[in-house]
This record gives sequence, structure tokens and C-alpha cells, in this order.
Amino acid sequence: MSEDYPNWPDTDIENRYDFEDNDTRGKELPKHMTKGGPGDKSTGGNVNTDSWFVEPSKQFDSLGRKKFSYIPDILDKGTIAQQAKDKEIFFCDIPFTQLYMEIDGNYQPCCFGKPDGKHNILNTSMREWMVNSEALNGIRKEMVDPNEKEYKNVNKYCTRCVSDEKRYGKSRRTACMKIHTNDSEFWGKVDRSAKMFKASGLFDFDERIIEVQLKVYGSECNLDCYMCTHQNSTIRQKVANEGVWNDAVFGKLSEERLDHFKWVTRDKTNIIKEPDVKLDEHGDYVIPKLKAQVKIENKKSMVDQTLDMAPYIRSIKIIGGEPLIMKKHYELLDKLIESGHAKHIYLKYQTNLTETKGGKHSIFDYIPKFKRVSMVASVDGIGQTIEYMRRRCHWDKIKENLALCAKYDNVDADFNGLVSFLSVMRFYEVIDWCMTEGKDMIDQVNWAMLESPPLLRANNLPQKIKDDLIPKYEGWPDIQEALRMPAEEGLDIQEVFDYLLDADKYYEGTKWEKHLFKVFPELEEYYIPKHQRNR
Ligand code: SF4
Repeated sequence: MSEDYPNWPDTDIENRYDFEDNDTRGKELPKHMTKGGPGDKSTGGNVNTDSWFVEPSKQFDSLGRKKFSYIPDILDKGTIAQQAKDKEIFFCDIPFTQLYMEIDGNYQPCCFGKPDGKHNILNTSMREWMVNSEALNGIRKEMVDPNEKEYKNVNKYCTRCVSDEKRYGKSRRTACMKIHTNDSEFWGKVDRSAKMFKASGLFDFDERIIEVQLKVYGSECNLDCYMCTHQNSTIRQKVANEGVWNDAVFGKLSEERLDHFKWVTRDKTNIIKEPDVKLDEHGDYVIPKLKAQVKIENKKSMVDQTLDMAPYIRSIKIIGGEPLIMKKHYELLDKLIESGHAKHIYLKYQTNLTETKGGKHSIFDYIPKFKRVSMVASVDGIGQTIEYMRRRCHWDKIKENLALCAKYDNVDADFNGLVSFLSVMRFYEVIDWCMTEGKDMIDQVNWAMLESPPLLRANNLPQKIKDDLIPKYEGWPDIQEALRMPAEEGLDIQEVFDYLLDADKYYEGTKWEKHLFKVFPELEEYYIPKHQRNR
């Protein structure tokens, strides 16, 4: 797809690889390995939609017909489904179903989307954002119109998916579409919502279709993952403050950035009640934020706003930091149970799955009260690999918690990892583990390419290491695409070594002590000690 987007879907480039002949591994894969997104025959610039709308429906209508058998059929000419599958429209169901706010309080289309710079939880209610925002309505309008040529809003707010599909043939959009187009009950709702919007130009919801992704409980986290942006982890911030920081990798640790950390770290569920909120001379509530006074126009707590929307909520995803250790979020769960809505709601966590308790609360006490619970575990290595990359975690503990989850009929555990500079050297072990030891515990496997910080992307590995890895990812063309990409221009991997070795030094003598070249010995020959550089 071109950057300026007008030619979708005609920019599909010729397939570079003959998957028909060599993709035997993909054909034999168990369902849990591919239903979360991976395993398609897409390549950079060529999204393959063969796996969309293929799951036979398990549900029947009152006449005994499978629910996909609408009249007209869901894939009849002119339906949203047909146009999406045939790439006549660049359709994503997320703008029609998901309400997302970033850890800084800005609303955006999803975790991969961009904020509009105007709407945040201090000035806009959750419902207002979902229904009235120009950004979301602009994206929606372009996504249902087969005559759309410019995709101005898509290019502005969905840049990451556009660029991921160009580079890898796979994106958050393609993963979501693969999952949701094969869930006939859910797709029925998406189809109805998109059609209503197309006909009226207005967005609203009157049934359980919305996923609320709440990222307002701050960034308390128990791990120090080497690739994680510091705003998402209090432990990362602590370790950075104590010296493990590299300007070339992360940019300057400026005063402004430190202030930003203070803002993102705080709980934002009920800001109006915070002790530093004051009434100004105009009678407006204001809060000090990044050294400025910011007016609070959205005064209702995030918990109350969530409860207001509860009749329309299909799922709630709690994102941290590490959500399972955040005591305050259990108050929301208690209120959803009290309200009677919990039994209709899927509860989802983006979790490192190393802890299952926050104070006196245990997630296992809550699981039976919700319709389903999904643990989306950030796993991109096994054994000492993950213990190095996601420092302070224990692989045995993750496996133990997976086994505990497997005891509940209404719990799904998914792996969702990041393919990055370090993880790509061992990610095939995760794939193998999921197909062997973990096969009965894992419901879906998915992954995304690390985007930021750019120095930690997989394509920055030394060429020989990348060449040796490519055959290990036969059947996973998006990872092969990442490994085929050249290193970022002007970036020096010695900076990555310096950063990782500084972290090793920081942890020396602790129970988390590990050394880069013991875990990844293939890297050692590329390291130039500081005193030997520039000679
Ligand atoms: S296209 Fe991508 S960025 Fe845009 S809403 Fe869908 S998943 Fe999010």
C-alpha cells in the first residue's frame, strides 16, 4: 500500500515467495497457533484475507440456518464483509467496537492508533469520544466507503497499521479482522453497526458490542522489560532514575519526561477527588499537569462512566503497568458484579502473568463472576530468555499461573509477544513451546513487531544473525519480512549493547543477575568495548 493510500487495494505487490510449495508447516499447525492472527500467507504490501470469514458458524438462527447465512449472504456482493475481504475497502472493526485511552489520558482509536490531540479523559467523557469524535467518525466514514480515494483520517490516525501492512503484511487490524470475522455472533453486531453508520453518518450503540480498554490505573508494574517504554512501568522508571538509561536508545531523560512519568504513573480513575485538584477563580476544577493548570471538564469518575456504559459493554480490558497487581481496579470489578453486568462481560487483561494478586484481592476470586476472562500474557521468550528480557520475572511462575488459569472453564490464556532485537533470536522457541508443552493451556498466540524505540527493532541485528534466523521462521512470513529489512540508518548497535550491559551491571549481585552474552552468546563477537571504539 502506498503511503498516501489512494490506491488500495491495487498496490499489492507480487508475492515474493512461493508459499504454495514450502508452507507445509503452516498447513499442519494447530488452531491455537493461527487463530490469533499469525500464519497467513501475507507478505509486505500484500495482505492475504483468505482466513477471514472461514470459520463455520456454531450458531443457528430460528429457521435453523447458520448465522453467517444472512439474506443476503454475508459475503454477497456489496456487503461490508465482501468489500473488506476483497480489499475494496480498508475496513477495521475496531473503530466501531473499541473505546481506548492511553496511559496519559488521551483517547485514540486503539493502542496502535494516534490521538487527535484534542480529546482526553479530562475534557471528554468516554461516551462522547466514542459517539461524537471527529477522528473516529472520519475513520469510520472512510472505512465503509468503496469510493474512498484519499483515506486522510486513516493515514492520520491508523499510520501504524498502514505501515505495518506495507512492511510485514500483518498488523493489529489484520489480526483483529481475522479473529472477529470468524466470530459470527460478534461479526453480526459489527456488520449492523457499520451499516447503520454508513446509512446515517451517525455512530451509536444499542447492544453489547463495545470493548472498553481502560488504561487509567497508572503504570505500577513489577517488571523491568528491556524494550518497554518507561512510561508503562514504575520499575522501569526507578531503574532509569538509578542510572540505567541510554540517550541514543530512548532519547534524553529530560525534566519534561520526568514530569510526564509522574503524570502517567498516577491513578486517573477519579481525578476530581485528588488532593491537588483545586477550584480556580472562575469556579473551574483544575489540576497541575506538566507544570500547567489543566481544566477538568469531564467530572464523572471513570468507574461511573464505565458503569453507565455497562449495558453495551461486551468486554473490558484492563491495561497497566501490570493490571493484576493494581489494587484499585478490583473496585471496578466489585461494582460490575454488584450491578449484575459482570456475568455478561468478558474481562481481559494485558498481563505479564507473574502475579495474580493485588493486596487482599485475588483474580481467582473474581473469575467465576464474569462471563469469560482472557489473560493476554506478554510472553516472547521462554526460560532464561524471558527472564533476561523481562527482568524480575520467573518463567516457572508464568507456567504455574498458566496452569492455574487452565483449571477454569471460562478462562482463556493467550500469548501476545513482541518481536524485537533480542526476542527474535529465540522467538521460535515460544512457538515450539506453544505447540508442545503449552498446547493445552494456550488459546491463541499472537505477536507484533516492536516499533519503538527504533534501535531495539529486530532488523537492527547483525546481518549474519538475521540470515541464520530466517529459515527458523518458515511459515511465519511477517517475522521473515522483519529479518529481511535493513538496519535502521544511522543507528549504532553498540548503543544497544551499552544499554543492556548497564542493566546487567545494575542487577549484579541480585537474584535477577544475568549476563547478555551468556543468554545470547551469538551477539558477543559484535560487541566493541568502549575503550576500543573510534580507533
Ligand atoms: S486500523 Fe489499526 S490503528 Fe486503526 S483502529 Fe484498526 S487496529 Fe487501530
